[in-house]
Amino acid sequence: MKVLVVGGGGREHALVWKLARDSRKPRLFCAPGNAGTSELATNLNLGAEDVPAIVEWARANRPDLTVVGPEAPLCAGLVDALEKEGLRVFGPSRAAAQLEGSKVFAKEVMVAAGVPAAKSSVFTEAAQALDFVRSLGAPIVIKAEGLAAGKGVTVCATVEEAERAIRESLVKKAFGEAGARILVEEFLEGEEASILALTDGVHVVMLASAQDHKRIFDGDQGPNTGGMGAYSPAPVVTEAVLPVIEREVFGRTLTELRKRGITYKGVLYAGIMMTSAGPKVLEFNCRFGDPETQVILPRLAGDLIPALEACIDGTLRPELVSYKPEACVCVVMAAGGYPGAYRKGDEIRGLPAAGGVPEAVVFHAGTQLQEGRVVSAGGRVLGVTALGKGLKEAVAQAYAAVAKINFEGAMFRRDIAAKAFRKNG
Ligand code: AMP
Repeated sequence: MKVLVVGGGGREHALVWKLARDSRKPRLFCAPGNAGTSELATNLNLGAEDVPAIVEWARANRPDLTVVGPEAPLCAGLVDALEKEGLRVFGPSRAAAQLEGSKVFAKEVMVAAGVPAAKSSVFTEAAQALDFVRSLGAPIVIKAEGLAAGKGVTVCATVEEAERAIRESLVKKAFGEAGARILVEEFLEGEEASILALTDGVHVVMLASAQDHKRIFDGDQGPNTGGMGAYSPAPVVTEAVLPVIEREVFGRTLTELRKRGITYKGVLYAGIMMTSAGPKVLEFNCRFGDPETQVILPRLAGDLIPALEACIDGTLRPELVSYKPEACVCVVMAAGGYPGAYRKGDEIRGLPAAGGVPEAVVFHAGTQLQEGRVVSAGGRVLGVTALGKGLKEAVAQAYAAVAKINFEGAMFRRDIAAKAFRKNG
């Protein structure tokens, strides 16, 4: 069996790592992959967003299954294009991926479906948006409609900050077309969690809960990043709330999409705020989260391929997904300067020693092989991950592995999963 994974970050290394353990022993390809995936798969020199080049490779090489990691190729219609070639693909169609690609579309679907979410209004004119913000006051959230590489959302503590965010998007066009429409959204208070679900468009199997750490510095300080670490399970997501999320978030959203003629197949990721009034959706993503995937997949017992294929075939059942009892923690090691301009090309030392820490696995994100050495090649460089009997043990093992690794300017948070312990007392 041939499997193609599209993407080249930590999420894709985790997917390749899990797929490599499948009992069908697939031959793996990764486009473009990184130094980590090259140990388990054949890296293809194809950009993840280069839809025509990926389709051409797939037409010639006929993978039995393609798994698309990042949102950009999903929103650009990679799944539709591969399906036209008669290929089997795990991931939503372009129409379904609009749940992430357009926050306006996502909000329309949520309102129509009665999904609990933050209230918001859409604007294309700065003057009207400014009037609205002044009438509501702060805190308030300004969101560019489209894909903005994680930079399109500004949580504003003051009206002045909101005014700046509105001008950035609507007047200065900082996000181009992606920011030509904005949402002005009610600020929600609470703790966030990521709930990912597999779906064939009708059936839903929720994956283990996880929590991401978006800010660069300890204590959730500093600018937002792609994610500095994650842990699973997230105690804030209680057993009692899971059926509510399944029914009111996933169930209602998929039903509304089907009414619109859209069958969502793949993984649907709901960023959820656990508010005092219950769970509310902050955003949908149309793909596996990064770094949530790095803590969810190592916990998965058994094979992943049957569950992915069931999403394609419309035969998804809960029995296809089961978990090991262990908890999992991922600490992201980033390049100096990230999330601003960052260093590249620094040699990464200590990877074999880190991999030797019991229950640890180092997922590569921005890495490259250069004359036999692994060097940094992206903002987030590694996702150092470990399982443990509980979160405390997983944290200890992950940081034991981090301690074995060094590269010039390496940055990482020292408080990954600390929130979970506050919850547990
Ligand atoms: P999003 O891409 O919509 O998830 O937004 C990025 C981050 O902004 C989220 O992870 C939250 O921390 C924050 N955020 C988004 N929407 C809201 C909201 N309505 N209230 C409070 N925080 C929000």
